[in-house]
Amino acid sequence: MSTPASLSPPIPAPTPLTAFFWESLTNRQLSILRCQNCGNYVHYPRPICNVCLSEDLAPEVVSGKGTLYAHTWATQAFHPYYVDKLPYCLAVVELPEQPGLRITSNIIDTPREQVHGGMALEVVFHEISPGLTLPLFVAEGFAPVTA
Ligand SMILES: [Zn+2]
Repeated sequence: MSTPASLSPPIPAPTPLTAFFWESLTNRQLSILRCQNCGNYVHYPRPICNVCLSEDLAPEVVSGKGTLYAHTWATQAFHPYYVDKLPYCLAVVELPEQPGLRITSNIIDTPREQVHGGMALEVVFHEISPGLTLPLFVAEGFAPVTA
């Protein structure tokens, strides 16, 4: 069924507003825009702070910790790349840097019966295609040790 092209994951198209995010991941760091006027984190990236309306936003590296806010198990692939990855866990992860600061990701390498709301998570970085690294999450304490 799959052709080489169909085995490529969907590739994001960075914009001037989002390029920092993808570049940070390439360096194995999770960065979130932060308002330099009031300190509010802004994610997904937007040009204006939703608290004070400042346009003075800059990326800051965050801890990579998180808690599971919501999740579901995908059992049907929306793209051919994901066919052999089913079922996989779609997750909304709340970052500890700010209440309500959430990122959409996947939970990997965690048995399904261990995935539950509020569980402690930590980010891992997976280069799924040349030049494309994604921030995925595992149960805290289970991130592989990298040299
Ligand atoms: Zn602000």
